[in-house]
Amino acid sequence: MNRVCELCGEKAENQRAHIGGHILCSVRGVREELKKPVGDTLPCGFCGESGHAACNVYIQVKKDSAKCTINCRLATNIKYAFAERGSDNTPCRNVPIVCGLCPSMLTVGKESKSQPAQWRYNMEEHLARDHPEYASPRNPDGQQRLPHTVWVSMELDQREHLAAGIPLSQIPSPFDRVAGPDEGVDDLGQQMGVRYRAPTRAAPTGKGKVKGVGKPKAAVNKSATGTADAPERPPRKKRKSNSGAPIASGSGSVSGLK
Ligand SMILES: [Zn+2]
Ligand SMILES: [Zn+2]
Ligand SMILES: [Zn+2]
Ligand SMILES: [Zn+2]
Repeated sequence: MNRVCELCGEKAENQRAHIGGHILCSVRGVREELKKPVGDTLPCGFCGESGHAACNVYIQVKKDSAKCTINCRLATNIKYAFAERGSDNTPCRNVPIVCGLCPSMLTVGKESKSQPAQWRYNMEEHLARDHPEYASPRNPDGQQRLPHTVWVSMELDQREHLAAGIPLSQIPSPFDRVAGPDEGVDDLGQQMGVRYRAPTRAAPTGKGKVKGVGKPKAAVNKSATGTADAPERPPRKKRKSNSGAPIASGSGSVSGLK
């Protein structure tokens, strides 16, 4: 079903991806003519507004899927694994993720309880606000470097920037105060449920990223649908997963509780 976007008045075929474009413009300081602006702090990935308790989002990580729960009035189903990767048709990768620095209820290898999540496009703000002891894109001088598992969970690709209308010149270089995988910080991130991807520290500028796609699982729940698009990335090498619950894989659904 097609709604009309409350922010720009245009048709929004995919509410999450459409609003995600407005949110990313706001995050990157790209001005849009909108009837209603994006919320000024941690905007909801469905309605784009800030400060509604109903828009708090929770995620339950299951063995090979993730289930998001949110009561936003504009919530729609998220095909999690698909949305998390982005596609040529729907590049927006704004999905709820577990912040690897927040206290976690994940137990390695077990299903987790439902726990608070952050929308990926809000991670820069979340880190600067709630984890100022860590360096992050808006707080580059934080004392400790950002665990790279956290960085890869929040890194945005060029395709989604361009789809949102961000000019190349306003796409930031990859954040570089990131602690490498060989420095003992990965375990922390993995315990906390941030999925592992290959380090993405090379190539500071330009070029869409083709690197960093070596994630352990592209696991798709048997019940998942909507993955009919041809893969837009080169085939991945199979990598043994040795982490606990991969948070950003599998498919999930959003259950509105109203
Ligand atoms: Zn719109
Ligand atoms: Zn909302
Ligand atoms: Zn956090
Ligand atoms: Zn790391």
